[in-house]
Amino acid sequence: MIRIAVLAGDGIGPEIVNEALKVLDVLRSEGLEVQTEAAPVGGAAVDLTGDPLPEATLALCRASHAILFGAIGGPQYDVLPREQRPERGLLRLRKQLDLFANLRPAQVFPQLAAASALKAEVVAGLDILIIRELTGDIYFGEPRGIRIDHGERVGFNTMIYSESEIRRVAHVGFQSAMRRNRRLCSIDKMNVLESTQLWRDVVTEVHAEYPDVALSHMLVDNAAMQLVRNPRQFDVMLTGNIFGDILSDEASMLTGSIGMLPSASLNSAGQGMYEPIHGSAPDIAGKGIANPLAQILSLAMLFRHSVDRADLAARIETAVERTLEAGLRTADIALPGEAVVSTSQMGDAVARALVQGHA
Ligand code: NAD
Repeated sequence: MIRIAVLAGDGIGPEIVNEALKVLDVLRSEGLEVQTEAAPVGGAAVDLTGDPLPEATLALCRASHAILFGAIGGPQYDVLPREQRPERGLLRLRKQLDLFANLRPAQVFPQLAAASALKAEVVAGLDILIIRELTGDIYFGEPRGIRIDHGERVGFNTMIYSESEIRRVAHVGFQSAMRRNRRLCSIDKMNVLESTQLWRDVVTEVHAEYPDVALSHMLVDNAAMQLVRNPRQFDVMLTGNIFGDILSDEASMLTGSIGMLPSASLNSAGQGMYEPIHGSAPDIAGKGIANPLAQILSLAMLFRHSVDRADLAARIETAVERTLEAGLRTADIALPGEAVVSTSQMGDAVARALVQGHA
């Protein structure tokens, strides 16, 4: 029995998770033994319990094979003390489960090449995997805070990586490259930041164990530029937490919409959390227009990485492609003048394509 914790969260989270559950229901109706249990997280959990990651939610996640996560956050929570903010719940969950490797594929579906912010000929066929370290770096480094210095406020954070943190994510990077086109580009800012000099040194050391992978290094500012100049030069990009956060959002625009990009966050036991890379999109929440495909593709990643059912992952991905092929578009991926469908119409269509693909 596959146990999945379902943490829908805030904003469009519940709307798009609902569509992924329709897809899961199709597989369940075919006999897949899967058990889902929902739990509050983020702002929804703050409203209920005052804590963005209640103990019961964490316990459910620990006891599950995988977590299907929607999104968290909203402007109404931005005034709360930092510890109670939804984002802090997400960071704690990543840290508590030691989900250190974040896999973010950025693929251009041929049907959507024209929806990219770049020219179709620059992005057609694009297939990058960004691997972002997720539990270290300046997001977690201590000391951090805002203090008074010489009569004025000073904000400070600590960019820090240990050798073992870099080493374990480098292994994930090289192993992923081995399954793809065997090219790994490691991103750093070693010309200015010591912690990223160590990053480069350790990645180079780990490379000795993967002689079949071609390793290159690139400074993060250049990488940001190369991603829009010639994105197809990349196969796997390996980055620290903050650089990966920014570069993967940039890469999302190459694919047409942030609403298309799934992600997986894995620990060394293969347990994983699967979520779209976007946030809770409060500007469109409740309108029924959010794109559910990133969430549905996150479910596909769940089957590939946490329960060893790459066959089901491929079926879901094919169902998404067929749905796009049939011309269905939510507003974020529609070209001017194209007809658009709602969140639930898109989910229904993928579920139907999944059934038909199996018939
Ligand atoms: P966002 O990703 O929520 O939205 C950015 C833009 O993309 C918005 O215009 C939104 O409408 C659009 N968008 C996002 N997902 C979409 C989808 N599926 N379909 C169509 N359009 C979509 O980022 P933001 O506006 O900067 O942040 C909103 C809230 O989300 C904040 O509270 C932020 O902290 C939180 N956030 C959460 C996560 C997460 O849960 N992992 C990640 C990023 C931001």
